[in-house]
Parts: sequence; structure tokens; C-alpha cells
Amino acid sequence: MECLFCKILKKEIPSDIVFEDDAVCAFNDINPQAPEHILIIPKKHISTMNDIGESDKDLLGHMLLVARDIARDKGLDKTGYRLVTNCLESAGQSVFHIHFHLLGGRAFGWPPG
Ligand code: AMP
Ligand code: ZN
Repeated sequence: MECLFCKILKKEIPSDIVFEDDAVCAFNDINPQAPEHILIIPKKHISTMNDIGESDKDLLGHMLLVARDIARDKGLDKTGYRLVTNCLESAGQSVFHIHFHLLGGRAFGWPPG
């Protein structure tokens, strides 16, 4: 069975896309945990952060720059934001296609739950 985020990339499942280019897609989380909650995913299927390789360095750097730009577009660069990735179930990973959560619009506690 193909993964949920690959289906979103193929537009087989609808999503609320905020940014897309050749390598990356960003869309609003269906179950937002903050006023702004955007997922940034690579178009390449990579299951977990354990599976990234040397050849993914540019892609991962690009994902960070996209996160920075979206944060700036939404004014979160001024108010603050959190960028999170969960690896494996115990850390909260539920979709096995790597993604960064960009969360903003409220204050966050530390340590995370
Ligand atoms: P994680 O639990 O870190 O793997 O994050 C997966 C995220 O995907 C969760 O925050 C979910 O709310 C989100 N999610 C699941 N299905 C969809 C969907 N169809 N569209 C947008 N976000 C989704
Ligand atoms: Zn996938």
C-alpha cells in the first residue's frame, strides 16, 4: 500500500497546499495543533529520519529554507515558531514519509510532551 503523503503528492487525496516546487510540498495539517500548522515534505519518499542519506543533504537543506520562507510569509519569523520532526512511533511519528511540522501562532512549552 502506498503511503498517505505519496498519495497527497499525486493529488489522489486532497490537501490544502501552501507551497510546492520540484522537490518539496507544504500543506496545512488536517489536525492542527496550533493556529499555524504546516507540514513540509520531500517529494522523494523517505520513511523516517533514520533513512536519510548523504545524497539527501541538498534536499533536507532545501526543506529548511522552504520552512524559513513559509514562516516569513506568515509573519512567524517575528512571533516565533517551532519546527519539529518525529522519528518512529514513540516520538509521535504516525505517517512514515518524513516531514517537518512548522507550528506557530501561539506559545509552546518546553520540554515537549
Ligand atoms: P506525525 O504524527 O509526526 O507522523 O505527523 C503526521 C501528521 O500528518 C499529523 O499531524 C496529522 O494530523 C497529519 N495528517 C494526517 N493525514 C493528513 C492529511 N490527509 N492531510 C494533512 N495532514 C494530515
Ligand atoms: Zn511516501
